[in-house]
Amino acid sequence: MPVFYTDPKLGLSPDEVAARPPKLDVLVFGPHPDDAEIGCGGILLKMAALGYKCGIVDLTAGEMGTGGDVETRREESRDAARVLKLQVRECLELPDCGLEDSFDMRSAVARTIQRYQPDVVLGPYYDLPPGRGLGHNDHIKGGLMVAHGVNYAHLRKLDSVYQPWYPKAVYYYFLPMDLMPTFVVDVSDHFDAWIESIMCHVSQFGRPEQNSGIRPFFESLATRWGRWAGGRYAQAFYSPWPLSCRDVLSAARVFGPPDPKVNDEV
Ligand SMILES: [Zn+2]
Repeated sequence: MPVFYTDPKLGLSPDEVAARPPKLDVLVFGPHPDDAEIGCGGILLKMAALGYKCGIVDLTAGEMGTGGDVETRREESRDAARVLKLQVRECLELPDCGLEDSFDMRSAVARTIQRYQPDVVLGPYYDLPPGRGLGHNDHIKGGLMVAHGVNYAHLRKLDSVYQPWYPKAVYYYFLPMDLMPTFVVDVSDHFDAWIESIMCHVSQFGRPEQNSGIRPFFESLATRWGRWAGGRYAQAFYSPWPLSCRDVLSAARVFGPPDPKVNDEV
């Protein structure tokens, strides 16, 4: 049974979400409670500012994490949902460190997609060397579960109380350094709030004053693609399928006037 974290101040109580799930524009699946923030926090804030309805579904409660316990991590997830202006956040409470790309777990993802009818789904990138860090079992298996769950969501014979649904696109975050992103998104205007959402997870990162290195770390990652996105900070994503555009210029690299605070023109 999913656990809903939605902040009633955003308009929907957890009971209302359970009874009448809102249709979302963007739905991010995170293997552990802080992953969606790290991988997609900037674009979630940007999409919310544009008026889109966004949500996060955590696949696990992060109970195997060295820091914190389930209740602490729930509170931190609620706080981060508030910062990110999410319409809904829930946790599927699948086993931390035990995600499997199985029929049952793919189906759990598919039913979640049917519940929220998102147009865009995001999940962790799946083709990684297994091990600590990005290649955590739950990141690899979670990415595969999302890939197959998006497909299963349209099946009429899936065991589900919801109607079939097929998202328009699925994109992946947590890209390895040697993978060229398919697209990058300028999140400069939302950088501070993005970091704030990550730092809600005190059990994982400590308090900002205790961990002065965390902001520069994420800043360096976001700076890598900022220039390509036409700003200072960006988040990068991979699409297994070609993206289409009506106006070729809309997909052209966005280099505005040189900003001396960003970089010297090269
Ligand atoms: Zn994780």
